[in-house]
Amino acid sequence: MSADSTDGLSTEPTTEPTTEPTTEPTTEPTTLVIFGGTGDLARRKLLPALFQLGCKDRLPENLKIIGFARQNLTDDNYRDLMGDSVREFGSLAHRTDEWAMFAKNIFFVPGDLDSPGDYAKLKSRLEFLEEGRQPANRLFYLSVAPRFFGPAVANLGSSGLAGEPGLGRVEQGWRRAVIEKPFGRDLDSAQALNESVGRVFDESQVYRIDHYLGKETVQNLLVFRFSNTIFEPLWNRNYVDNIQITASEEVSVGDRAGYYDQSGVIRDMVQNHLLQLLTMVAMEPPNAMDANSLRNHKIEVLRAIRRGGPEGAARNTVLGQYKGYLDETGVDPGSSTPTFAALRLYVDNWRWQGVPFYLRTGKSMAEKVTEIVIQFKRPPHMMFSAAPGDELSPNSLALCLQPDEGVHLRFGVKIPDQGMFMDSKDMSFHYDSAFKDQDIPEAYERLLQDALEGDASLFIRSDHIEQAWRIVEPLLDSKNRPHPYEPGTWGPEAADRLLAENGHKWLGLCGAEDEGHA
Ligand code: NAD
Repeated sequence: MSADSTDGLSTEPTTEPTTEPTTEPTTEPTTLVIFGGTGDLARRKLLPALFQLGCKDRLPENLKIIGFARQNLTDDNYRDLMGDSVREFGSLAHRTDEWAMFAKNIFFVPGDLDSPGDYAKLKSRLEFLEEGRQPANRLFYLSVAPRFFGPAVANLGSSGLAGEPGLGRVEQGWRRAVIEKPFGRDLDSAQALNESVGRVFDESQVYRIDHYLGKETVQNLLVFRFSNTIFEPLWNRNYVDNIQITASEEVSVGDRAGYYDQSGVIRDMVQNHLLQLLTMVAMEPPNAMDANSLRNHKIEVLRAIRRGGPEGAARNTVLGQYKGYLDETGVDPGSSTPTFAALRLYVDNWRWQGVPFYLRTGKSMAEKVTEIVIQFKRPPHMMFSAAPGDELSPNSLALCLQPDEGVHLRFGVKIPDQGMFMDSKDMSFHYDSAFKDQDIPEAYERLLQDALEGDASLFIRSDHIEQAWRIVEPLLDSKNRPHPYEPGTWGPEAADRLLAENGHKWLGLCGAEDEGHA
């Protein structure tokens, strides 16, 4: 009985209150080295996110940032360059005093990723900045072209920057490596890269990025599923008819054409982002939100995805290419690189047996939208009809990830003053109106903070990467020419036929029109 109980009734709470871990920013010297520190990603995303974190007091107290790239810049040149970037892409405009303080901890080391001598230079600069204090922590962010991932990690190992295993002088403090996407171009290259990374770092030190996971709305998927009891009982083959995941872009390949033509939509979007979303929708509830529980449950989903080899892939996939793609500068005029994909996947487990998961993504489409629609089954017996000329739609739940972040629940209602005719209407929640005073942070803010704090939950484990490549591999090998489609549409008609084979059609509840993207 609780001590202050006065009436003999227990006032003990029924569940243990959870104590928030106190994550005091560490005062140990910590350095973030950004390889490719002058590149597009560093300028547009990383430095603005770091500055934002600094303004929110969420960085280690003594964090120093070193940009490493080929240009011959001084610390001051680099600070100016990053100041311009944060002004253009971040929140510097009203915070010049804070920037002046922040910039004092930014440094630059000119160097070539292929030159071992330049890692030695970096090492002595690091040691100088750490002032000989131990433990000293180092986060290496590989914001460089993928061909450098393997060699840069190997050089980090041989230069002793990643610790000095084998010499009996393992330095104190943690060492971590953040590796950008794409991680490999197929299963073989991803496995080879995992092996070379594994020669230098333990898996627990490796943070592979899929920036989708840093998005608030993607994390909300987990909160939505696992903090609301009303949906979870329905979240299975008994009530769900099909699940649709769409990530469409209005823009064409633009100035990324040269890169894109070597990569295509499967590598660019499906292998990583769309399969991530699928795992989060389909996974079993983990018993804790720690990195291993979460990632173990996600990989279980990937392992359960039916793999039908090239024939299965051909039957369950529609690839497209927008008209005009071949005229883009940098694209091979005979290219059969797809810019659109629609997939039908099955997750062969107890929860999802027989429920189709439809994935759709592409460039030059009608609208920019990322959404997940869970379409529920029709009532077993329908006593009402739609108004003449209308169609009855079953319940659906749409999780809108962008641009209008929120949730829509569609249900049937009676049309007033028209007998017992019914219509479908949405109950909607929008982040921007529900949290008016709170900005939604950029994905990189969360990811950088997590990497600095050692939380790998939102990063990809080696086994996940490899399994995702196994799933899409037959699509990469496809020799079929993609279906042409008009820019500004929802892709080739064959993508509609893919769903029609199961009596389904593409839904869209999050877009500008909120009324079906078909
Ligand atoms: P980028 O070409 O703009 O920048 C590359 C950086 O690497 C530059 O700082 C350049 O100076 C440096 N560099 C190139 N060769 C070097 C060498 N030999 N030695 C030392 N430095 C060298 O590339 P980016 O767009 O910033 O992309 C970086 C990584 O992030 C890539 O893996 C990319 O796939 C990934 N990524 C980028 C974006 C984005 O929005 N830019 C989005 C997602 C993922």
